[in-house]
Amino acid sequence: MSSNKDLKIWIDGELVPKAEAKVSVYDHGLLYGDGVFEGIRLYNGKIFQPDAHMKRLYDSAKAIRLTIPITPDQLIAAINQTAKANSFTDCYVRAIVTRGPGYLGLNPNKCPKPVVIVITDLIELYPRETYEKGMAIITATVIRTHPNALSPRIKSLNYLNNILAKIEATDAGVNEALMLNGEGNVAECTADNIFIIQDGRVLTPTTSDGILEGITRAVIIELCAKLQIPCIEKTIQRHDLYIADECFLTGTGAEVVPVTKIDGRSIGNGTPGPITRRLSEAFHKFARGG
Ligand code: PMP
Repeated sequence: MSSNKDLKIWIDGELVPKAEAKVSVYDHGLLYGDGVFEGIRLYNGKIFQPDAHMKRLYDSAKAIRLTIPITPDQLIAAINQTAKANSFTDCYVRAIVTRGPGYLGLNPNKCPKPVVIVITDLIELYPRETYEKGMAIITATVIRTHPNALSPRIKSLNYLNNILAKIEATDAGVNEALMLNGEGNVAECTADNIFIIQDGRVLTPTTSDGILEGITRAVIIELCAKLQIPCIEKTIQRHDLYIADECFLTGTGAEVVPVTKIDGRSIGNGTPGPITRRLSEAFHKFARGG
């Protein structure tokens, strides 16, 4: 889903109509996927978890030795300005920082000026009924980026292996794919973190299993503590998924999505479970305040 509005996009300090929002074909974001980004939500006119998103973006940039030319406060102001210009109080926000225009070689030192972009729009990642009935996923053959190649903690513009996994999902007639890590343990899905529930305990892979440290994931871990539901970050094997009582995914766009089938096997009784429902409700209340 995308809004029909004549959207304004923020590029390097200017709001321009969507049709005129363009970057150079020499931008290394395009040529090499050299850059970082954030997916953020605006709920009731307020940026959700702004500090966590800014920290992850600036840490990702630091890790790839990219200096973002504006401060986190300036970027927050740009997001608010863009949402306001498009009359959004509830929307998805994409903040992107590319290495900027350079030459046709790899060397980022030849890209003098990073480009900062803010897009606000509507997004619907999964059909409505998915949230009621649950979703089927498959395990992809493509693994999550090995941390020794590029840390999955960096939210970079390189999503090609996730995209190949997503194609495996759509080929199999499902919306999302689980990616394992180099050791064969569970990492995360192509654009969401994964949680399972076993014997009343909520389990999710650890950072060292090679995942993006999702902002929604962190909120769910906090909500578990508040609701006194035991939540443990630990290495999970595919076997654990198959014998889990419940499973759900988390992400900024997706929020909390119940998973009821993995690789053709029903999870629990094949319907969204009680702990998933409780956490999903708690998340909605926390994010939307209702
Ligand atoms: N993993 C990956 C690979 C992602 O791209 C995302 C973001 N869509 C997530 C997990 C979820 O992170 P967040 O909750 O911060 O959106």
